[in-house]
Amino acid sequence: MGIKRRLLLIVTLIMGASLATGLFVLNQIEIQNQKQENTQRVGALLASLSAPVAFSLVQGRIPDLDNLMDQLLERKEDFNLSHVALFDHQGLLVGQTGTPPSPHALPKAFIEKAVAANGSVIAPNAQGYPLRISMPVETGIRWATLVATLDWNSIQQSIAQREKRISLTIVALALIALITLLMSINRWVLAPVVAVAKVAQKFAEGDLSARIHLPGAGEITRLARVLNMAGERLSRQKELLEQEVAKRTDDLKRANERLEKLAITDGLTGLYNHRYFQEMLIAEVQRQRRGGSSFSLIMLDVDHFKKFNDEHGHPAGDEILHTMGEILSENVRETDLVARYGGEEFVILLRFADHDDAVQVAEKLRHSIEGAYFSDVHGTPRFRCTASLGVATWPEHAKHARPLIEIADQALYQSKRLGRNRITSVNDLEQTS
Ligand code: GH3
Ligand code: MG
Ligand code: MG
Repeated sequence: MGIKRRLLLIVTLIMGASLATGLFVLNQIEIQNQKQENTQRVGALLASLSAPVAFSLVQGRIPDLDNLMDQLLERKEDFNLSHVALFDHQGLLVGQTGTPPSPHALPKAFIEKAVAANGSVIAPNAQGYPLRISMPVETGIRWATLVATLDWNSIQQSIAQREKRISLTIVALALIALITLLMSINRWVLAPVVAVAKVAQKFAEGDLSARIHLPGAGEITRLARVLNMAGERLSRQKELLEQEVAKRTDDLKRANERLEKLAITDGLTGLYNHRYFQEMLIAEVQRQRRGGSSFSLIMLDVDHFKKFNDEHGHPAGDEILHTMGEILSENVRETDLVARYGGEEFVILLRFADHDDAVQVAEKLRHSIEGAYFSDVHGTPRFRCTASLGVATWPEHAKHARPLIEIADQALYQSKRLGRNRITSVNDLEQTS
């Protein structure tokens, strides 16, 4: 059950209980008032009759007396009267009007008391309500006594009618009060609470942009402000977190790229490594099988490198290999692939190059190496160096990767055999073998 319904129920229960209590108390008061009012009115009526009745008695004008009694009878409903009787000083009935009270006679004890009393006598019924009122008839001396009997049923009816009117008025007023109260509670309490709850719900769902603006300076308004501040802070923290995550992701991406590059790069020369070359060669064979363009391989081995190492040390040898990598990269196209095959051996994959193109590139490489000065470990260029090369072309010399490498290698070793610092085409290999 939502807060609205709960509050509505509680307020309605409280109002209902208050209303019932209020109605009960008001009715009690009203009955008391009615009792007093009725008694006074009837008393006043009888008192007003005192003088004319006395006059009629003194004059012995019985028709006047009857007339007075008849007039009384006409107004009996206004005063809830059922019977009015006139008694002489001995308590004997002189005249009467209306319906005599059952059983037939008035209680003797009351008549005696009324006749003997100097003033008005009131006899209540079982509920304490006046049922009978007496009034002396006197003009200096006591002539008689008037006794009015009230109609209990009609009194009850008039009480019930008044109760009904009062109850309806109170219920209508209570309803107006209830509606006003509920509207006020809704406007000042419920609507703000519901608005605050909605924002909190949005926060819980991850929407930190939700805000609430309430007028005034009450507790709920303060709560709304605190919620807004929390939203601001959370949004900022989320933003910072997202920036941090983006930065970390970027760092990770770059680290992965570095790792990937490291995995395919030769550490000494910065060229591609043996494994990557093998993968690329297989891929190239597959690609060109579909595409149909030829490509070539140049295998290259540094001449007398062992001797160089022995004479100048391995660090100097490393410098040779590093510079060799640079010379090779500088003398081929961007699309070609230069790799360190292993030790002091290099391989170049020349894409879209036929055999004549490849032989030309190989010669250019050999020439560049031969003409270069290689630095020592201090960076001083002072060593000369040569290399032997073998050139093979796909698909004319081999249709698969491994045989293509093998045959290029054979051409390379033929260059070695023939004295080094030279290139050998697989075509020449065939001629010499
Ligand atoms: P050839 O002209 O017949 O090729 O003679 P070579 O001495 O170059 O060939 P060999 O196979 O006898 O020796 C290769 C040498 O290359 C032996 C090895 O120490 C050296 N080498 C291999 N890898 C490296 C390296 O990473 N750094 C250095 N400094 N030397 C290396
Ligand atoms: Mg070698
Ligand atoms: Mg060698």
